[in-house]
Amino acid sequence: MKLSNYFLPILKETPSEAKIKSHQLMLRSGMIRQSASGIYSWLPLGFKVLKNIENVVREEQNNAGAIELLMPTIQSSEIWKESGRYDDYGKEMLRIQDRHERDLLYGPTNEELITQIFRDNIKSYKNLPLMLYHIQWKFRDEIRPRFGVMRCREFLMKDTYSFDIDQAAAELSYKKMFLSYLKTFEKLELKAIPMKAETGPIGGDLSHEFIILAETGESEVYLDKNILDIETKNLDYSIESVNGIIEKYSKFYSATDEKHNKDDFNQIKKNDQMHTRGIEIGHIFYFGDKYSKSMNALINNNEGKNINPQMGSYGIGVSRLPAAIIEAKYNDEFMKWPLSITPFKVAILNLGKNGDEADQKSLEFYNLLCNLKLEPLLDDTSDSPSSKFKNFDLIGIPFQIIIGSKLKKDEYEFKEIGKDKKILSKDEIINFLKEAYKIDQ
Ligand code: ATP
Ligand code: MG
Repeated sequence: MKLSNYFLPILKETPSEAKIKSHQLMLRSGMIRQSASGIYSWLPLGFKVLKNIENVVREEQNNAGAIELLMPTIQSSEIWKESGRYDDYGKEMLRIQDRHERDLLYGPTNEELITQIFRDNIKSYKNLPLMLYHIQWKFRDEIRPRFGVMRCREFLMKDTYSFDIDQAAAELSYKKMFLSYLKTFEKLELKAIPMKAETGPIGGDLSHEFIILAETGESEVYLDKNILDIETKNLDYSIESVNGIIEKYSKFYSATDEKHNKDDFNQIKKNDQMHTRGIEIGHIFYFGDKYSKSMNALINNNEGKNINPQMGSYGIGVSRLPAAIIEAKYNDEFMKWPLSITPFKVAILNLGKNGDEADQKSLEFYNLLCNLKLEPLLDDTSDSPSSKFKNFDLIGIPFQIIIGSKLKKDEYEFKEIGKDKKILSKDEIINFLKEAYKIDQ
């Protein structure tokens, strides 16, 4: 993409309504614009990041054996009356009437709808276990939308639902999702810590929030520092691996304030105690037959008896993640997107002028990178070099090729964001990028 053809409305000043750095950066770098309180448009740069995150989340759901479908944003009120949540949900639910005065709603979550789909189509234990997910917009009329896409009213969520024959099988599904969340967040270069969370009426230990530590987070959390050192690389979905990782985490204290227990926390060595804040990026939850019972979803077990399947639900805040990643990575001087989700793979900063040598060199390099699927963003505008440098530190593309007039024919300035510049040849840069992005050709 050439910047002169792109739509990237960069702001010079920090908008005063943005109180935290992710909101500031997303506005300044032209990723989002507010359309109404807590409702945002995703401009091209932000949309690219969002789609890339969605794909990382999707890939790991598929690896865990979950199957993707798509449920609508608008739901009928009938199923919510069946589960009893139509009244319970209160003002957070956006209620709508159609022209026939039928009650509809903009889905805040999908337990009811997925249970209805399951109930109408699956009758036998032979079809279990089953994990279904979708990535769809939700609406919650939050009382205090704030911090940009961090807490908004319309947001993109990945929600998975598991159906199992009994509690033991449901626990295995839960653990698989637990592991898939660790792998997803690892790919996004985030250190997400699973924390015991409120389970509601079911009780037990089977609810975890996945939280990244950040001063600006809305959750208050307590943890044993050693939990941060648990290795989450190279996990697979074998039973041993699934059980092994849960066992490792269960050795260390970590809880949100709702589940916090002072006595247990005080058992931890003083130096290892940590009380801080964090951002919730995912939440997994086992709730047994809460919905399958109230909505009368039945399956025939291997003894010919009709029973209610055991269910769980598992959410990831897809549209909260760009903001969470910025909170984790942006240091007020420059942003560096994780390679797995960067909006462009490499930036070319053409410091030349129309038709001069640097300009020609930039265009040639650009064409080459496009052919190699190295998705460059070429700054071919007439902005000053200093404003180009500033803008690109904000946009956060991890690598920059800076092309001025001082260097020899096959020499280029190459910079990885946050590191010193180097002088490299074209081949050296290409080999470096191919290796960084694991592109073989
Ligand atoms: P919270 O306590 O933050 O309101 P929740 O418990 O209501 O979260 P879930 O229903 O578990 O959230 O939703 C799954 C995920 O969706 C959350 O972990 C979070 O990342 C994201 N999420 C929830 N509400 C919002 C919102 N208003 N804006 C953006 N993302 C959200
Ligand atoms: Mg909520």
